Amino acid sequence: MQTSDFIRLEEQFGARNYQPLDVVLSHGEGVWVYDVEGRRYLDCLASYSALNQGHCHPRLVRVLTEQAGRLSLTSRAFRNDQYGPFLQYLCDVTGYEMALPMNTGAEAVETALKLARKWAYVVKGVPRHQAEVITAHDNFHGRTITLISFSTEPLYRDDFGPFTPGFITVPYGDADALARAVTAQTAAVLIEPIQGEAGVRVPPPGYLRAVRAICDEYHLLFLADEIQTGLGRTGKLLACEHEDVRPDVVMIGKALGGGLYPVSAVLADRPVMCLLKPGEHGSTFGGNPLACAVAREALAVLLEEGLVENAAVMGDYFRERLAAIDSPLVKEVRGRGLLIGLELTPEAGGARRVCEALLRRGLLCKDTHGTTIRFTPPLMIDRPTIDWAVEQIRAVLQPTDDYRPTTTAQAPLYTSPATQTQRELALAG
Ligand SMILES: *Cc1c(COP(=O)(O)O)cnc(C)c1O
Repeated sequence: MQTSDFIRLEEQFGARNYQPLDVVLSHGEGVWVYDVEGRRYLDCLASYSALNQGHCHPRLVRVLTEQAGRLSLTSRAFRNDQYGPFLQYLCDVTGYEMALPMNTGAEAVETALKLARKWAYVVKGVPRHQAEVITAHDNFHGRTITLISFSTEPLYRDDFGPFTPGFITVPYGDADALARAVTAQTAAVLIEPIQGEAGVRVPPPGYLRAVRAICDEYHLLFLADEIQTGLGRTGKLLACEHEDVRPDVVMIGKALGGGLYPVSAVLADRPVMCLLKPGEHGSTFGGNPLACAVAREALAVLLEEGLVENAAVMGDYFRERLAAIDSPLVKEVRGRGLLIGLELTPEAGGARRVCEALLRRGLLCKDTHGTTIRFTPPLMIDRPTIDWAVEQIRAVLQPTDDYRPTTTAQAPLYTSPATQTQRELALAG
């Protein structure tokens, strides 16, 4: 089977909830992936930062396969020998007293919101079922109905109501707006330290510290969604460390499973975490021994292989090199560590087209919100590889390259006519 055959099957039998680039990957190693035709690509998305440790890290593959052959699932009805040691290590390295593992990021955020609501009723004395949580415009916290209830992106939300009440959104990066939104019912503030999905939006300096101060002043919990920013991505283990801020509750996920297995977790201290009583919350797969073994090793790889420090150094280098690209199509380069956004001017003809041109040159990355490209490679990327990536990016941002900022449709590579027809039909409704 060739690329076009795989694409045809996917389009015929799969839900159309994504619009992937037309590349069919079959294996990967470190920062590199290979398609079914044997072509090699640099992975500059790293599965939205779930692959901070790179593809198929040998230590993680070994732990995953060994643990899979020993014990995979016990449910939390019984205890297992991986759970406690994983939690201890996680708490040690993050500096929180307790942790609660779940599977996906969305579940971790839901868990944090349940904790915040219970805290509001039990500790703060908010009348039952009246707690409010303040969130930010352009947030991304996952896809459950509660989480899209406070999304401000019409695409994520508009066809899926009715929505969960109890959420207020204020402009991101605006501490005064946040303070003004606080009421007697406010339980918590939920924000991302850098908004990833929104297009790598870094808040103004001092914002996280201001959020912490507002939470202290009004007796609110600070909930930090570090699912994308955490675990080394921004050059610190947690992105809130950039402002020396310690949130009350932190959500991590994505790279916690090292790209091999979905693992997420909520971190908090005893007074908050101990509010949950047996039976009030749970998950069949949450905290299973396979997840715990992989996640413990995924954390160890990050720390022992210096990936957090490498993200800081290589991130600075990558952003510097991108900013030095002389192209009228580049509006801005922003980010922290290896969480990088490249904002294109309208003349570029859309970020998607640039990503398609980069694909043809062997570089995989993802457009977001029309004019932004996100570069988030695995954290072990080195200088020569960044140099090579920047050369490809520079080339596609020159109007003379195979990429042309015009409205002339250019057939995406490897797409069969049949697939195109199906896609056009889907687009037509
Ligand atoms: C990816 C992401 C989530 C959701 O994680 P899933 O595992 O896809 O449910 C939540 N918050 C942020 C900031 C994310 O980047």
